[in-house]
Amino acid sequence: MAVLWLDEISAGDLEKVGGKGASLGELTGAGLPVPPGFVVTAGTYRSFIEEAEIDEELFEVVDVDVDDSAALADASDRAQELILETPFPDELREEILASYHEVGDGEAFVAVRSSATAEDLPDASFAGQQETFLNVTEEALLDRVRECWASLFTQRAIYYRQEQGFDHSAVNIAVVVQQMVDAEKSGVMFTSHPSTGDPTMIIEAAWGLGEAVVSGAVSPDNYVIERDGRSVDVTVAEKKVMHEKDEATGETVEREVPEDKRNERVVSDEEIDALMDLGERVEDHYGEPQDVEWAIVGGDVYMLQSRPITTIDEGGADAAEAAGSVDASKGLTDGSGGVQAAEGGSGGADSSSSGGVIVDGLGSSPGTVSGAARIVKKLDDLDKVGEGDIIVTEMTMPDMVPAMKRASGIVTDEGGMTSHAAIVSRELGVPAIVGTTNATTTLEDGQIVTLDGDKGAVLEGSEVEPDEETEPVEEVRPQSPVKPMTATEVKVNVSIPEAAERAAATGADGVGLLRMEHMILSLNQTPAKFIAENGEDAYITELVEGIRGVADEFYPRPVRVRTLDAPTDEFRQLEGGEDEPEEHNPMLGYRGIRRSLDRPDVFAHELEAFRRLYELGYDNVEIMFPLVNDAEDIYQARSLMKEAGIDPEKRKWGAMIETPASALSVEEMAEAGIDFASFGTNDLTQYTLAVDRNNEHVADRFDELHPAILKLISDVIETCREHDVDTSICGQAGSKPEMVQFLAKEGVTSISANIDAVRDVQHEVKRVEQKLLLDSVR
Ligand code: PEP
Ligand code: MG
Repeated sequence: MAVLWLDEISAGDLEKVGGKGASLGELTGAGLPVPPGFVVTAGTYRSFIEEAEIDEELFEVVDVDVDDSAALADASDRAQELILETPFPDELREEILASYHEVGDGEAFVAVRSSATAEDLPDASFAGQQETFLNVTEEALLDRVRECWASLFTQRAIYYRQEQGFDHSAVNIAVVVQQMVDAEKSGVMFTSHPSTGDPTMIIEAAWGLGEAVVSGAVSPDNYVIERDGRSVDVTVAEKKVMHEKDEATGETVEREVPEDKRNERVVSDEEIDALMDLGERVEDHYGEPQDVEWAIVGGDVYMLQSRPITTIDEGGADAAEAAGSVDASKGLTDGSGGVQAAEGGSGGADSSSSGGVIVDGLGSSPGTVSGAARIVKKLDDLDKVGEGDIIVTEMTMPDMVPAMKRASGIVTDEGGMTSHAAIVSRELGVPAIVGTTNATTTLEDGQIVTLDGDKGAVLEGSEVEPDEETEPVEEVRPQSPVKPMTATEVKVNVSIPEAAERAAATGADGVGLLRMEHMILSLNQTPAKFIAENGEDAYITELVEGIRGVADEFYPRPVRVRTLDAPTDEFRQLEGGEDEPEEHNPMLGYRGIRRSLDRPDVFAHELEAFRRLYELGYDNVEIMFPLVNDAEDIYQARSLMKEAGIDPEKRKWGAMIETPASALSVEEMAEAGIDFASFGTNDLTQYTLAVDRNNEHVADRFDELHPAILKLISDVIETCREHDVDTSICGQAGSKPEMVQFLAKEGVTSISANIDAVRDVQHEVKRVEQKLLLDSVR
C-alpha cells in the first residue's frame, strides 16, 4: 500500500506517515474535526528513490559544507533535480489518483503537505522547512507530491539537518493529501503560553486561509485567554492581506483585505469558546501543551494540525548560546559566562542608559538583550549583522538563519507567534519580538537598543552591557527613535555611494546632494587620465554605477545628483593632476558649471551617464548644477542637456545658489526652467562675506547665519515660491538648528542634512511647524 487513510493511522505509525500524518491520524481517531484525507507514506518515497536508483547519488550530493553557500546551493539544486526529473512508476500513480478520487468525489481541492519523519518531533520543530500546497486538483497532484519529496532537499532543510546533527539518509518524508477547508478565518492556537508555559491560551487569527498567519504575511489578531477565569485580552491587528482560493484558477492568492474588515476583530466570543474547547480536548488527548492550526468555515471549526509546543522555556541554559548578552531573569545565562543581571533585569527601573519604549510587538522569544539594531532589507544586508547585533527586518526568511544565529536578538515588522521569526528564534534561544509593524522604519541602523522578548518591547539605549566583542556603543550615535512627519521635507547629503545605505536608513525623504566628485576621487585619477587609460565608456559606466547605488537605495525617493564641481587644487592630487591649471585662488577659479561649460566634450560624459540612468528607469534621479552665476549659465547647461538626449521638460533639474550673483538672478533662472534652487551655504557664505572657507585665519568670520546671507536666502525663497520653484539647502548649515528654524519659518521646500543630523533636523522642523500652526490659530 502506497497510501494510508487518516482514519486508519495511529500514533505508532510515525515512521510511515511522518509527524504531521501521525498527528492528523491520531486526531481523527480521537474524534476531533479533522478534514478527511490520506497519506502517501514515507516508505513510498523511499521505494521511489531506491527503485529509480537515485538514492545513493542523492545522499552523496548533499554531503557538503553548509557554510559554503555556493556549494550548498549547488547541492540543493542537484538533489531536487534528481527527484523532480524521475518519473512515477505506473502503479504508484494509479494508486494515488484513485485515493484522491475517494476524497470529495474526485472534484476536491486538496491540500498537499510534506510530513517528514524527523519533523514535528518534540525537540525540533524544523520551522518552515517543508512544502505545503493548497487548492491542488487532480492534474497537479502528482507533481505536488514529488515537490514535497524534493522539499527535503531545499538549502534550508539541508542546512538545518546538518546543524541539528541529523543524518540526511535517515530522514524520510511522507505526504499528506487532505480535503481543503475553504477557510473564512483561520489561525493558530497555543494551548499554553509558548514561552512560559503558563496556563494561558493564545489564539492568533486572520481572514482567509491560515497560510497568511503561518508564513507571517499578515500580522494576526491576538487573543490571550486566561484559562481559569477566561478573561480575554484582545489585540486587533490591521490585517492588510489575506490568502484565499482564486475561484477562476483554484490557486491560492494573496488579496487585500477589504477596507472595512482590516481592523475588524476576526473571532467572536462564541468562536473563542469553541476553539478553547477544541484546545482543551487536544491538550487532554496528548497530555501536553499543543500548537494547533485551525480554520473556521460556515460556523464549523476544523483542526488542521496539532503539535507539541517545542519552545516552552524550562530554565535551561543552552538556549542562550547565540545571544551576545542575555538577561538572567528568565534563567538564561550568557554563553560567554557573563551573566548580566541577577534578577528582574528587564524591569528597567534601575537601568542607567536605556530609554523609553520605541517599538512594541509580540514577545515571541524570551530574554532581554542589548545591541546595535541592524535593519535587514535584503539578503545582502545580512553581512552587516555581527555577533551580538539585533536583526530588524520585515520578516525573517530561511536564508537568514545563519545570521539569526549570530544575532543576539530579532525584531520583525510582521508575523505572529508562529511566524518563521518567532519559531526559529525561540528554537535558537534568541530573544525576539514579532509583528511590530514599524520596527524597520522606526529603528535606526546601528541604533543601540534593548530588546525585551518577554514584554515585547524595544527600548532605546543599552540596558544589558554588550559583550566585549560587540560593536562599541560610542561608535554609534543613538538618534531619537521616532521619525516625525513634517511638511518640510528632510533629506540627507551623501558623498560616498557606500554611505547610501546608512543614509537611506535615516528615513530621509531623499538625497538633497550627491556629490559626484567623490566618485571621481575614488578612481584616484582625473577624468582625463581615467578616460585616456580606460576609454570614455568605462568612465561613464563608473558614474552610472556610482549614482545607481544611491538611486537604488533610495528609490523611489528622489536623489539630487550634482554635476562635477572639481576644484583644481583637489584634483591636482590625483593621478593626471599635473595637467590641472595652476590657480592663484582655486575657490574663485576653474570649477563648477563654469568648467563644465568650458569643456562640453567632458561634460557630455556626465550627461550621458544621466541619460543612461533614465533609460534604466531611475526616474528618481535629479540633476543639479553647481556654482551657477546667472540665467545664462542655466540656458547653456539646459541646451547641453538637450543635446545629450535628456528632455528638460521631463526631468527634474535645478541649480545651486552659491554665489550672491545666483541669489540675485534666481528670477531669471526660474524663467529659464529650473525646477529647484538649492542653497550651497558653504560657498554662499564664503562669497558673500569674502571669507575663504578653507582659510583658518578668517574661520571665525565664517558665519552662515550672517544677516546678509539670511537676507539672500529669504529673498530667493520668496521669489522661487512665486515662480513655483522648489527651494532647498544642502550646505553644512542645513544641519544646524538655528538655520533649520530659520528655513522652516521661511517656507523652504526641503532641508538636506548630514546623515547623523537627519533625525534631529526632523524633530527641529516638526517643532517649528507645530509652533507656526499654533501661532496661526491663536
Ligand atoms: C556648498 O557650497 O554649500 C555645497 C554644498 O557645495 P560644496 O560644499 O561641495 O562646495
Ligand atoms: Mg559649493
